[in-house]
Amino acid sequence: MTTLITNDVNISNKKLKIANSWFTIYIIGQSEEYMRGKLFRIIIAFSVIFSFVFISCAGTRNISPTSYADSAVYSLVRGDAPVYSYSVLKENLRSKEGVLTVPWQENAVETAKRTNTIRFYFMSGEKQSFSDTSGIKMGDSCLAVFPDGTTMLIDAGMSDYASTLVKNLKMLGVEELDYVVLSHFHNDHYGSMWSSNGVLYSMKVGKFLWSGIYNESQGAKNSFEAAIRANDVETVIVSKGDSFDIGDAHIDIYAPTPDNIGQHLGETALNNSSIAMKITFGDFKALFCGDLYVDGEYKVLAMNDEGVFDADLVKANHHGRDTSNSKDWVAATTPRVVVATCGNPIDTTTYGWYSRVGAKVFNDYLDGYVRVVSDGYNCEVTTARPRTTTLFDNFDKIAEQIYPSN
Ligand SMILES: [Zn+2]
Repeated sequence: MTTLITNDVNISNKKLKIANSWFTIYIIGQSEEYMRGKLFRIIIAFSVIFSFVFISCAGTRNISPTSYADSAVYSLVRGDAPVYSYSVLKENLRSKEGVLTVPWQENAVETAKRTNTIRFYFMSGEKQSFSDTSGIKMGDSCLAVFPDGTTMLIDAGMSDYASTLVKNLKMLGVEELDYVVLSHFHNDHYGSMWSSNGVLYSMKVGKFLWSGIYNESQGAKNSFEAAIRANDVETVIVSKGDSFDIGDAHIDIYAPTPDNIGQHLGETALNNSSIAMKITFGDFKALFCGDLYVDGEYKVLAMNDEGVFDADLVKANHHGRDTSNSKDWVAATTPRVVVATCGNPIDTTTYGWYSRVGAKVFNDYLDGYVRVVSDGYNCEVTTARPRTTTLFDNFDKIAEQIYPSN
């Protein structure tokens, strides 16, 4: 009976209920023999605990998902279709640090291991705006924590964000980063990596994954190489066709091709050379493709097998701009959850295309920090704050018609 509880996550609700009944009968049958013994009390205690777990799990799909905010309780339930839940983090569950820092009061590493979940924390500078020569922007940054506790930071936002980013990581229990992934060599992605208080100088970093392609700034190249040397970080250049495992999760790299390794590219070409990476855990797939423009998306689609970009979670390309996220890209990815990080309202066109395939679209400007958790099947999205605009409500209704909330 214990084996059934701990090892078989695929059992149906019906089987759970039957198992619960048989276990209870077994306990009652044994009760006379051990009525006065310690063993009886131990068995009863376990019976109560197991019954509570069984009943909770069996009833999950009939209860409003919002009641499970911040709990990721779906890990034992595998229904006919994945359950997607969406909620805003409750005020009383927020950290007391203030609005700028990540609001979740949890050790992401321990929680991922304990619940066997993969966890994505989209954070690139809540309510902060940073300026560079090209204007006000925040960039991309997402922490991925794998079910075995492995940590991966995918991009790191602008350099002004470094102290908040490091603080956020520590608040989430991340003392070292096993992987840092730089999608492409632009400062709204690498800024908080090798600035003086960035992650490379602030915590132990295992492997640094990048494309091997530079921007046109020799100074940036020098700073990068100095940071790698000073902090003894192992760099790994990844290209199309590379893949590796992290515990039970699998990583595939679909772009760029290795042709431009060691080259310095201009802005557009560099965006179109972003690393296209898919993370798969169980049935759940997440796609991170940096700042691909529309022509880059078509190129990446054309040079890979059909179907490989089908995903559940998509980080919107190029911060959700309509320079990217083409209709054909959206059709190829057909996500259920999209997150755009940019510090500005997501482009309406982008929001519309993703909504038309049934995706729920999130944006740091509208929702604050966004956390996405999956047990490899079901998915739970929590945002830091409620929306104050109704601008996108009609798109949300379109998405809702395709995948109604249960
Ligand atoms: Zn960017």
